[in-house]
This record gives sequence, C-alpha cells and structure tokens, in this order.
Amino acid sequence: MEEKNKEKPKAVALLSGGLDSTLAVKLMKEQNIDVKAIAIKTPFCDFDCGHGCGFKVKEVAEKLDVELKTFYLGDEYLEMLKNPKHGYGSGMNPCIDCREMMFNVAKDYMQEIDAKFIITGEVLEQRPMSQNPRALKIIEQESGLEGKVLRPLSAKHLKETEAEKTGLVKREQLLNIKGRTRKNQIELAKNLGITDYPNAAGGCLLTDPQFARKAKDLFKHIEKPTLNDTELLKVGRHFRMNNKSKLIVGRNKEENDVISSLALPDGLLLEVKDYTGPVALLYGNYDENVIQLASSIVHRYSDAPNDEECVVITNNNNNLKEIFASLITDEQLNSYRI
Ligand code: SF4
Repeated sequence: MEEKNKEKPKAVALLSGGLDSTLAVKLMKEQNIDVKAIAIKTPFCDFDCGHGCGFKVKEVAEKLDVELKTFYLGDEYLEMLKNPKHGYGSGMNPCIDCREMMFNVAKDYMQEIDAKFIITGEVLEQRPMSQNPRALKIIEQESGLEGKVLRPLSAKHLKETEAEKTGLVKREQLLNIKGRTRKNQIELAKNLGITDYPNAAGGCLLTDPQFARKAKDLFKHIEKPTLNDTELLKVGRHFRMNNKSKLIVGRNKEENDVISSLALPDGLLLEVKDYTGPVALLYGNYDENVIQLASSIVHRYSDAPNDEECVVITNNNNNLKEIFASLITDEQLNSYRI
C-alpha cells in the first residue's frame, strides 16, 4: 500500500464508524487522497457506531482499506468536562470543547505523519451545538486549524479550504449536504456501494438526559472524579445518600458483576442474605446511619418479604458484617434517587 500511496497527498480523517465519516473517507479516496484514519474514544462515547467504541470502527477502516490509529482521551477529558469553556448542550455534552480536543489530537497526528489536512464527516446543521457555522469556526480557530479542515459532505456550504485552493482536492466533486435528515447520505451510500452502516446517530452518553443527571451530580459532589467514578455512572440505580456518599444498586447480574469489580478499597458492598437481590456499592464518606439507610434500599430491591426485616451482608475488603434492615418507603426512596 505504501508504494501505491507514495505520490498521494496525505490527510487525517476522524473516523467514528458511523455513516457520515465513512462517506467522507470514501469521497476523499475517490479523489486520490491517502487517508490515514484516527478514532478517538472518550470515557462517554461510543460515537455513532452503536456497537461500542472501537468495535465497528476497526471493521469500517478495514473495509475502506485505510490505516487506523486509535486515541483515548481520559483524565484530561474529565478535567475539561468539569468546566468546558463553551458550556454544555442539552445534556452534559460539552460538544465544542470536546471537538476541539479531538481536533487537537488530529492536528498532532497530522503534523507527525506530515499530512496536509484533516477530513471529518461533519454535516452542517446536523447537530445543534457543534455543527452550526459559528461552532465550526470556533473549533477550527481554537485548535489552530483554520483552513485545514475539509468536510466533504458539506464543503459547498463552507469556505474553501487550503486543500481545495491548492488543488489537492477538487471542490466541484464535493457535496452540499446540510441538516438533520440522512436521506442524502443514504442515497450516496447506495451509490458508493456502502450497505452495512449503523441506523441512527448518537452514541454519546453525555447527551442522554438520565445519564447527564447522574454525571452532573457526580461533578457537583466530587472535586476530581476519576475514570472509575465515570464507569460506575454507566451502571445501576443511583442514590445520593448525603453530600459525601452515594449508593449504586445493580439492576441485573451483569451490572452486579461490574459494580463488584469497580469497588475500591474504601467502598462497601451490600447484599441481602438468604434471598435473591442486587449487589450495591456504597462509597464516599459514610457512617453507620448511612449504612443502615443503604441496607433498607438494598432490601427494597431484593426478594426478601416487604413486611419483615432482612439481613444485609456488608463487605469492605472481605471484612464481612451482618445487619438487620427494614424496608425503605417509596417516598423516602425517591427522595434519595438521582
Ligand atoms: S456528542 Fe458532543 S460531547 Fe459527545 S462525543 Fe460528540 S461532540 Fe463530544
């Protein structure tokens, strides 16, 4: 492949595994561009592939016959999420700051491999926060990439990029897609022989209102949330016990296993004895009263009879204790629910 691509201008493509970025790469390959793809994972997104990070995107890169490099934005992403310069969207999605971080990764890689420009599958006005003309401009300016980002699907609605001006890419072969409908992309996919692509866009947990509520609560109560904290946001029912402690109750066996595996040494695992029930994790700063309250919540989600106390086993680093717990009322329960 190297030999074949020797004379071709190189470009870095942000590939998500979704239809839009797939089409963008395909269009650039048709213009004889040597595309090097990158996929960027954050603690909250599976992009728009619908299969989880990195799964579909590898398959897509193979089919497109492009090299793929994956990057992960972890702690630095959480730091940004605490206070994004450009604020949040309707959930807790800091789309402009998030895209800037991704563009910075793409820029570094572009410089490293001596590529000439960056390609994205962005479609003008498709996503309200990050794909309006003002946001696109800000993202480019602040990541120092003015004129270097080519969006083949919407290019004709946008200013000419350097790649077009210098003739590396023919503007007349670029498209003028705009807006939220995917009709044009589906038609184009058909014409380009792309048949296997995800149905719907949107895999970012931060745009999900329920998830956003839990994430906001976490960031409000913990100065420096960790990646472990964010993994816990993805499972279970969440209860704010007080300013310093929180309870997470598994909803099924899979979640129970995840919760157990994410318990850190200062966490307390709770389970009802003698009856089927969830695994719950109490963490933060908790005292005996909070443990008692947490046990009554665990009772509520177990098969233990409602009209009796049950025994709850607490486990801190294999230090087991048993306590009696009565059932919490629904009203009380709802007052703790996040
Ligand atoms: S929806 Fe927004 S915050 Fe989420 S991955 Fe996309 S750009 Fe980033």
